[in-house]
Amino acid sequence: MTNEKWGQLRQRLLKTVGQNNYTTWIEPLEFSRLDGGIAVFHVPTNFMGNYVSQNFADLILYELNQAGHPVQRVTFKVAANSPTRPDMRTSSPSKPTGTSPKANANVVEALQAAPLDTRFTFESFVVGKPNELAHAAARRVSEGGPVTFNPLVLYGGVGLGKTHLMHAIAWELRARKPELNVLYLSAEQFMYRFVQALRERKMMDFKMLFRSVDVLMVDDVQFIAGKDSTQEEFFHTFNALVDQNKQIIISADRAPGEIKDLEDRVKSRLQCGLVVDLHPTDYELRLGILQTKVQMHRKTYPGLEIADGVLEFLAQRISTNVRVLEGALTRLFAFASLVGREIDMDLTQDCLADVLRASERKITVEEIQRKVSDYYNIRLSDIIGPKRLRTFARPRQVAMYLCKQLTSRSLPEIGRRFGGRDHTTIMYGVRRIEELKTTDGQIAEDVEMLRRTLEA
Ligand code: ADP
Ligand code: MG
Repeated sequence: MTNEKWGQLRQRLLKTVGQNNYTTWIEPLEFSRLDGGIAVFHVPTNFMGNYVSQNFADLILYELNQAGHPVQRVTFKVAANSPTRPDMRTSSPSKPTGTSPKANANVVEALQAAPLDTRFTFESFVVGKPNELAHAAARRVSEGGPVTFNPLVLYGGVGLGKTHLMHAIAWELRARKPELNVLYLSAEQFMYRFVQALRERKMMDFKMLFRSVDVLMVDDVQFIAGKDSTQEEFFHTFNALVDQNKQIIISADRAPGEIKDLEDRVKSRLQCGLVVDLHPTDYELRLGILQTKVQMHRKTYPGLEIADGVLEFLAQRISTNVRVLEGALTRLFAFASLVGREIDMDLTQDCLADVLRASERKITVEEIQRKVSDYYNIRLSDIIGPKRLRTFARPRQVAMYLCKQLTSRSLPEIGRRFGGRDHTTIMYGVRRIEELKTTDGQIAEDVEMLRRTLEA
């Protein structure tokens, strides 16, 4: 078979596996040779070879035979000119005794990772104040240099770019260090595989598989909270890799210490590394993201115009969740191209009425008072009432501050809802918290947490 023939054959594969799979897994394959009934392909990384072998080998075999090449087997090898890694899988000290290298290799054959989204790269990630630290940390680990902080924990609310950053790290590592085994999966997939291994009595394989990776990324780790045996296994996997000085990258929807039903030892392990959070987006970041996405949409819809002010309006009006923002823009472009109109304010209002209404949800003073009293574990009446004790006064001031920040109520209006206090009292409370936020880490954290839950 020639390379050209392979080129034609690939087109048939494209039809079967779809564009995304094709771009990620099939296109990078390089046909090397036919060797006694074995078709050999070159792959950029072991990881990729394993994945393709697991998921597409049968299909490729079928197509080869269909095209008249009597092939019994396909194999994927890292090309000789790629840097080869020392085979730690067979020399690893943690390898259980009595297992032959061959059995070990079979285990790694079973390596299955979640496919990476081709759109989630560092190039497409817009950096702003709320995510600059997380971005910098992600960049650092993606260099694949000596492990300096382990694990890296990225946490933050839904749709703020945790998964995007993790995929970006994986892409970058693959490009820079193709010899590394990088495994990305969600905590849910981790659990699923663990349970499957238990059921099929393949725990040894499971353990070896996870201990043979160089970089392990587990997304949405809060998922394993309360799932005891999965947590236990995760803990052991985690420790084994840390002992071997392998990089671990974790994401969660909140700070590790705040994940309910997560074992303390897991929590403290997670907190050992670098924990950085992605803050809710601010106006500038949202606008930046919109501008970047518009560039991308322009490729699909050339000639579509956006009127001045539309992006600013969306950045102003749509919540902190980037996914919602993206969805709105996608819909806007699709709609505009269907009706053949320019994207102006009218069209935006028509097309996004529901999204805009949803994000209009107003936070009320009462809601803030309730959340704050819950948070500090005091009675609602003590937030509103006259008691001057510090244990009540401080939460009360936090609530006043949040009312000023998150609602459009005036100081006198807020005062009225705080048991008829004077507007100067409210102003004093707001100022006090502003000051304390800069000097008292605990207060700053409290305010941030509360703001987040209120805006969620
Ligand atoms: P999370 O995992 O935190 O819930 P995702 O990483 O899935 O969020 O992000 C949701 C969507 O928003 C994705 O399509 C992602 O590309 C996009 N996104 C989030 N943050 C950014 C950013 N800073 N720049 C560009 N796109 C972003
Ligand atoms: Mg995610």
